[in-house]
Amino acid sequence: MTFVFDPPPCPSVAVAGEGVRFPVRRIFCVGRNYAKHALEMGSDPDRQPPFFFSKPADAVVDAGVGHDARIAYPPQTDNFHHEVELAVALGRGGADISTADALDHVFGYAVALDLTRRDLQKAAREKGHPWDFGKAFDRSAPIAPLHRAADMGHPAAGRIWLRVDDEVRQDADLGELIWPVPDVISILSRSMTLAPGDLILTGTPAGVGPLLPGHTVRGGIEGLEDLELQVTERGSPSA
Ligand code: MN
Repeated sequence: MTFVFDPPPCPSVAVAGEGVRFPVRRIFCVGRNYAKHALEMGSDPDRQPPFFFSKPADAVVDAGVGHDARIAYPPQTDNFHHEVELAVALGRGGADISTADALDHVFGYAVALDLTRRDLQKAAREKGHPWDFGKAFDRSAPIAPLHRAADMGHPAAGRIWLRVDDEVRQDADLGELIWPVPDVISILSRSMTLAPGDLILTGTPAGVGPLLPGHTVRGGIEGLEDLELQVTERGSPSA
């Protein structure tokens, strides 16, 4: 096959302790999956069916500790927010996956951020417009190395937290997920045929808030490698 220009490189995520990488196909995100976060966003905290949005695969940024990830303050926003989330990486695809079978499709887990231009997201929400410009911008999905489910099992509980400089902003437990991982996979697979390489960001707990240039962000989930990044000035080079 001859292309009119070189095809872009395949976006990928590090696998903890290994030289191999996980190729990313799509990134799905769950909208509201912790009751206290639904409340802080002015939404109904009761158990509504989950909803999804997506980010481009090349929004991923390697953000393991020691990787020195730098995210420039993004354009067209004055309210750039952190959301720490459990990322689920699928190693097997399928449609109409049952909750009982769902975890067999998981390759592994990682700590990720669903970075958000909150002002653009809220304006879109009020107008009934798509969320893409609030959610699906360049470098909006920093992620720490993946840990294989074969090694660590499937976390159903455990602390999830995020710190900005020395201030703990988000602090919750995976057990508070309104829709746990098997349900999320099963429900999503009724609308989309899932495939190996798909990542699912499972939603953020309460405590989302603004990031500013100069901030150091650290996030963690019990049993997984931490995520770390620096926020740099708008327009500064990526790393
Ligand atoms: Mn989110």
